[in-house]
Amino acid sequence: MLELRDLTKTYRTGDKALAEVSFTVPKGQVVGLIGPSGAGKSTLIRCINRLVEPSAGKVLLAGSELTGLSAGALRRQRRRIGMIFQEYALVERLTVMENVLSGRLGYVNFWQSFTRRFPAADIERAYRLLDRVGLIDHADKRADALSGGQRQRVGIARALSQEPELLLVDEPTASLDPKTSRQIMRLIIEICAERGLPAIVNIHDVPLAQQFMQRIVGLRAGRVVFDGPPADLTEAA
Ligand code: ADP
Ligand code: ADP
Repeated sequence: MLELRDLTKTYRTGDKALAEVSFTVPKGQVVGLIGPSGAGKSTLIRCINRLVEPSAGKVLLAGSELTGLSAGALRRQRRRIGMIFQEYALVERLTVMENVLSGRLGYVNFWQSFTRRFPAADIERAYRLLDRVGLIDHADKRADALSGGQRQRVGIARALSQEPELLLVDEPTASLDPKTSRQIMRLIIEICAERGLPAIVNIHDVPLAQQFMQRIVGLRAGRVVFDGPPADLTEAA
């Protein structure tokens, strides 16, 4: 479970990007984070993985606090958080398999992945993940030979190869066509349910969020202005 308690971020410029944001995400649940540009969605995601330092409040993952950790301790804790990106962030010249395996190293050592030897267990896990995301026949292809939807499937498998306890997903379908977007959203939600993974998906496509999410959190000017099932959002809008 992920728990945010009064998470607050004021940038040095004085912009109050988050104001006392509190909500919890239980295991297996995918929360769609929506809100207009500048609402604080990116800041929220960055405060959880501490790419941005929160000004106040707490982030707890499975009961342990991520806020307030030293840099070294944080690096270890980041392994617990899987990231999926809008533009996939694959290493284009590496194979699908190598990209998935790079998740085991963490993002800091990304470039070492093709010179490192991996334990057999990691390779077996990577094959199982590629099978799950429907790319088993593409394991040896270079990432730059894939379609957008296939690349995002690699991004999902790479995040899972870390065996994370939380997924943070930043606009995963922003570069994809509508049909592929629906397939990718469905896959993320199924996988989180199967694995009991909590997830936050920053999603600017509100109809897509309404179609797939059990729960939507709406941000506006750094505050939670909606938290509930998509059906209620329709009534509120
Ligand atoms: P969203 O992802 O919903 O578009 P952001 O989290 O990017 O929102 O931005 C929230 C607010 O914080 C905005 O007012 C934005 O201008 C401001 N902001 C974001 N990043 C920074 C930064 N690095 N420095 C100063 N202000 C920032
Ligand atoms: P995205 O929409 O993909 O989050 P943005 O254009 O909001 O991208 O932000 C790009 C970068 O600029 C981010 O690192 C963000 O933190 C930073 N940023 C956004 N708004 C501001 C701001 N008002 N002042 C300084 N940096 C900002």
